[in-house]
Amino acid sequence: MKLKNLEMMLQRLSGFQNPRPSLEQYRTPAPLAARLLFHARMKGDIEHKTVCDLGSGTGILAIGAALLGAERVIGIETDASAVLVAQANAELLGTDVDFITADIKDTSLPDRLGPCDTVIMNPPFGAQKVHADRPFIDLALRLAPVTYGIFNAGSLPFVHSYTKGRAEISEKVGGSFSLKRTFSFHTKDVQEIEVEIVRLTTVPR
Ligand code: SAH
Repeated sequence: MKLKNLEMMLQRLSGFQNPRPSLEQYRTPAPLAARLLFHARMKGDIEHKTVCDLGSGTGILAIGAALLGAERVIGIETDASAVLVAQANAELLGTDVDFITADIKDTSLPDRLGPCDTVIMNPPFGAQKVHADRPFIDLALRLAPVTYGIFNAGSLPFVHSYTKGRAEISEKVGGSFSLKRTFSFHTKDVQEIEVEIVRLTTVPR
């Protein structure tokens, strides 16, 4: 599948019906999701792998991983209404993804899920709840040797220091993200947000 095809397929997916600001429910735009997934596939991190999407929302990253040949895909999302949309989205594109309604802070998750090869995630940036991204990073590093995360541009020093001794930033790719007006406190109809796609690899202890 070509990048453009993946992007067009992901473009068809539905987004959040009633996005909740406290959960930072911003859907990853299809071009950015496709870019992350293509890159991950090129690195050998998708095909025939077990892939976990943390904070899977309406499923765009998880479903894209399934389309690119992941063997098993699991999405974890706290909002049950988003999970319903994600399940309908997966069906629309004929993909098989297990969406689980759970809080990523639930300490029983690693045992319930078993090991993953690759984590993909667009975690809350912590704009509404400070440090909301930390438990996502913590769980990702426990679950998988390789993680792809989308972070606000400028977050790299934080990601680097927060993961020191546990993981290395093995790659970063810049990108931008047009955020449509989602919440009443947004002042522009469309805002470009600069982001970084970061690939983290855990270091053996
Ligand atoms: N992965 C989706 C959604 C990104 S928005 C996409 O790429 O489009 C971040 C998602 O994380 C939201 O769906 C939000 O509901 C979810 N989330 C926030 N805190 C969470 C938590 N503690 N546990 C599980 N999911 C959470």
